[in-house]
Amino acid sequence: MLTGKHLIAGDWVGSDQTFASSPAHGPAHDFAVGTPAHVDAACQAAEAAFLPYAARSRADRAAFLNRIADEIEARGTAITEIGTQETGLPAARLEGERGRTTMQLRLFASHILKDDWLDRRHDPALPDRQPLPRPDIKMIQRPIGPVAVFGASNFPLAFSVAGGDTASALAAGCPVVVKGHSAHPGTGEIVAQAILAAVQACGMPKGVFSLVQGGKRDVGEALVQHPFIKAVGFTGSLAGGRALFNLCAARPEPIPFFGELGSVNPMFLLPAALAARGETIAKGWAGSLTLGAGQFCTNPGIAVVIDGPDADAFVATAKEAVGAVGPQTMLTDGIAQAYRQGRDRVAAGTGVRAVLTTMCDQRDATPYLFEVSGADWLVDHMLAEEVFGPLGLIVRARHAAEMQEIARSLQGQLTCTLHLDEADMDLARTLMPVLERKAGRILANGFPTGVEVVDAQVHGGPYPASTNFGHTSVGTLSIRRWLRPVAYQNMPDALLPQDWAH
Ligand code: NAP
Repeated sequence: MLTGKHLIAGDWVGSDQTFASSPAHGPAHDFAVGTPAHVDAACQAAEAAFLPYAARSRADRAAFLNRIADEIEARGTAITEIGTQETGLPAARLEGERGRTTMQLRLFASHILKDDWLDRRHDPALPDRQPLPRPDIKMIQRPIGPVAVFGASNFPLAFSVAGGDTASALAAGCPVVVKGHSAHPGTGEIVAQAILAAVQACGMPKGVFSLVQGGKRDVGEALVQHPFIKAVGFTGSLAGGRALFNLCAARPEPIPFFGELGSVNPMFLLPAALAARGETIAKGWAGSLTLGAGQFCTNPGIAVVIDGPDADAFVATAKEAVGAVGPQTMLTDGIAQAYRQGRDRVAAGTGVRAVLTTMCDQRDATPYLFEVSGADWLVDHMLAEEVFGPLGLIVRARHAAEMQEIARSLQGQLTCTLHLDEADMDLARTLMPVLERKAGRILANGFPTGVEVVDAQVHGGPYPASTNFGHTSVGTLSIRRWLRPVAYQNMPDALLPQDWAH
């Protein structure tokens, strides 16, 4: 079933060198190491495919996306089998993620059949305008060109080979070159097989999709610097994202880098809600914090409370609920090691006290809880950094003013959450304008893990949550990342793009 090769413009291509996968369980497999030469071949093919693919009708592109979804479903059992082995994620989780992945593909198929994403605008000519006549100007969004996609380890399907970036780019009319994630190369290959089957069934140009496996960092570096790549979709760590973002900015022709990075997703527990429902919130938080070994970019790692007996009760319940969660397998040995380093960093932070300490080793994570005063949190910036795993930090503010100061001091976040009751409205009103400047999504009385894939979704936030200035990587608005507005002045209708005609 597995070739262990790259998929470059319809052909399975090997390499002299291979790397072995590191599954959590089951057999390891060998995969071809990607090289800049493979990247070049994939990008040349993507460029050659761009104009023919972009010229295909929206109905054709929608049928292609639907066919990819069908082909993924047809390989569902194989994907779950290798996906669980490679990532250690439970089968039910991967099956749910597969459903989200095929749903995203079908959502973009139906989205492009509608018209609003094209954002057509028309200012008709005013030949009699004084002192000068006005020309006729029509504007419409056009696909940007070949797109590079990097998926994350924690979503081997929904943010990987055929994930939201690939689905939205193909929907926009852009060929895609995926850099395979070294944590799930086999899962990636089977999804690539599904895409190839759809390319063949729908008669799409071969270069519309390629997968170059990793193994070495120069693959990703070569990809973002390739002159035919016109934009990058990245989901992953701040360190990796920032390194690739810098390469994009330093190119002779800089290109947009849409990086979805990490976040601590703070929750603010306002006093009336804390008094009335502290226990329920603590139990809900424990569930969200430890879900999937805490390996979510939307993991709510920080809970801000106003100090006092209600805060004490919240901490006690959270300790009990979080402490009941046993060890969970992490995605890679490296992520497990980074989790323990993050734990040690937080434990050594200014004024930090341990609430719940456990023991974890090898590829397992167990949860940890710490607490710190608002004053100490405000001076120790390191405490505001993401720890990727089931680790929670409770920040005890002295009063509402300190809670606001904490909100103002935050870096950009994917999400911020308010837990509030009616009596908390005045304080909430003062926090809202601050949080709007900090986060892409603000929640009331909920938990941020679980991102709905819908028209109104925003998954992105000010740096360092993402580099997506004004964009989202989830939901239909994410297609805008791969589009560029073009204005046509006094252009004969026969020369306008076919999408201009309704
Ligand atoms: P990662 O280590 O940054 O890897 C992501 C991809 O980038 C991989 O293909 C990796 O290659 C490549 N890469 C990383 N650093 C690179 C460099 N310096 N040069 C070239 N390529 C580089 O991230 P991850 O561990 O997979 O994912 C976990 C992180 O993703 C967490 O921080 C999490 O919060 C974040 N995340 C964010 C979102 C979101 O939507 N905002 C969603 C999910 C996850 P290799 O295969 O060689 O490692």
